[in-house]
Amino acid sequence: KSGFVALIGRPNVGKSTLMNHLIGQKIAITSKKPQTTRNRIQTVYTSPEGQVVFLDTPGIHKAKNKLGEYMVQVAERTLKEVDVILWLVEPTTFVGAGERRIAQQLQELHLPVILIINKVDTVEKGEILQAIDVYRRLYEFDEIIPISALRNRNTGDIMNCIFKYL
Ligand code: GDP
Ligand code: MG
Repeated sequence: KSGFVALIGRPNVGKSTLMNHLIGQKIAITSKKPQTTRNRIQTVYTSPEGQVVFLDTPGIHKAKNKLGEYMVQVAERTLKEVDVILWLVEPTTFVGAGERRIAQQLQELHLPVILIINKVDTVEKGEILQAIDVYRRLYEFDEIIPISALRNRNTGDIMNCIFKYL
């Protein structure tokens, strides 16, 4: 099995941290400062099950300047080139115009979309359930996986889940 997987989501939700964790190396730069990833970073995951190329995008958000605009374009173009989409969110972020715009774009692509609710180490269980509820109403996700990329919680399920759709 092999394929391309895009990591999308707002800046700072943990896309680069998760990608680094999944492939077991520090390739993408992670930081507390949003927009650290300015272009696409590709990494390859190889296992007996197959090969997955991850495209770590700069994040989809409301562009405030030319650089921001460029970053949104890179992220949106990436969606058209992949087999599976990993959409990362935080349990505390509310669904806004940006999320609705992504949802709309995904609807037209007919790709498997896995929602990753990251940073569950920062909230109570009730808030995670609430987030699941909110995002279920936004989009018909193929899977929803709550994780903590930083603390390695539940991240083991992600690769299996990806291979299921390749
Ligand atoms: P990106 O902009 O989506 O690529 O986000 P980064 O991977 O650069 O992460 C942004 C910040 O969130 C960094 O300070 C990370 O250490 C932090 N972070 C990432 N994952 C987690 C997590 O599961 N829990 C917590 N508490 N922090 C996280
Ligand atoms: Mg990043």
